[in-house]
Amino acid sequence: MSKPRVFVTGKLPKEALKSLEAIADVTAWDNDLPPPRDVLLREASRSDVLITMLTARIDSEVFAIAPRLRVVGQHRGRLRHIDLAEATRRGVVVTNTPGILTETTADLAFALMLATARNIASGDRYVREGNWRIWDFNLFLGRDVHGATLGIVGLGRIGIAMAHRARGFGMRCLYYSRKRNPEAERRYRLEYATLDNLLITADFVSLHVPLTGETHSLVGKRELALMKPTAFLINTSRGSVVDTEALYEALREGRIAGAGLDVTDPEPLPIDSPLLELDNLVVTPHIGSASSATRHRMADMAVMNALTAMRGKTPPNCLNRDVLPDWRKFMRKAPWATGE
Ligand code: NAP
Repeated sequence: MSKPRVFVTGKLPKEALKSLEAIADVTAWDNDLPPPRDVLLREASRSDVLITMLTARIDSEVFAIAPRLRVVGQHRGRLRHIDLAEATRRGVVVTNTPGILTETTADLAFALMLATARNIASGDRYVREGNWRIWDFNLFLGRDVHGATLGIVGLGRIGIAMAHRARGFGMRCLYYSRKRNPEAERRYRLEYATLDNLLITADFVSLHVPLTGETHSLVGKRELALMKPTAFLINTSRGSVVDTEALYEALREGRIAGAGLDVTDPEPLPIDSPLLELDNLVVTPHIGSASSATRHRMADMAVMNALTAMRGKTPPNCLNRDVLPDWRKFMRKAPWATGE
């Protein structure tokens, strides 16, 4: 029996690749940068399955050139860069890896809170640059995180994971979200607030909303002006949820105490970005989900989805279930699928 052809658009852990190779002919793009468009198109044109990383754009041009394509397995949670409607029209199943990043991303948001409040990045630079000569009573005086007030904007999975952590630090916890969550309020002693009241009250404002038309520039000049001059803004959601220019001004003029960003607008942040001149900013390169355990779990789930589909069975994390009746018909004809 012939084997399905799989193209993986980035680096997967060895074990995940091995389990694919057991039943498929696999080509994996083994480079830190994503494959150039012509490589993606060439590989797609002869593949039955694509496993895609963050940046590969799977649009109508790719689907049009890929008559054999039956499965696109996205190696991340939220759908990005894949034209789902076109996939459905062409009878291609699209899968993702949901619900894996929550705790790891909340860890990073909490780490950014601690790093900004306690000058961890500046302290590290200070030591490395050879400036540490004596113990100084006033050196890098930061702010306490324990006992402070956390304002969570967007009480979804990561927002709740932040509330869970905040309890351990004895923090008062406010939240603003589209709707109230009475169960989480009871469980984590959360107080619901309007966005304005949260901004006025919180010592740390942590953003956990998705990027949508409504949340684009949710935190701009007006919102930053509501925050206390001693407060910190933490953003692990998406860069454009914050107005970058307004944030730069607020940080430069000391209108807020600092910011911790794992996401920026634009991304990557160019080296000449004025933000990088600021000492009251800690920035990480979109590594919210970057723990090895979580990245391995994402890879395993993406591969498990693809393997299930290649066996002709419905993959558990199918994003376009309305394609399934047509897809099953196609799969019965695929020489490598066993049929459901
Ligand atoms: P989630 O479970 O969908 O939670 C998002 C929350 O935001 C929901 O409670 C949602 O309310 C609320 N919300 C949506 N629009 C809103 C609005 N206009 N105003 C107020 N609240 C609003 O998402 P999650 O898994 O917690 O992830 C949150 C975001 O983190 C993701 O969208 C992603 O962009 C980002 N993220 C970043 C990384 C990283 O590497 N830095 C990793 C993972 C995720 P409803 O329930 O009413 O929709």
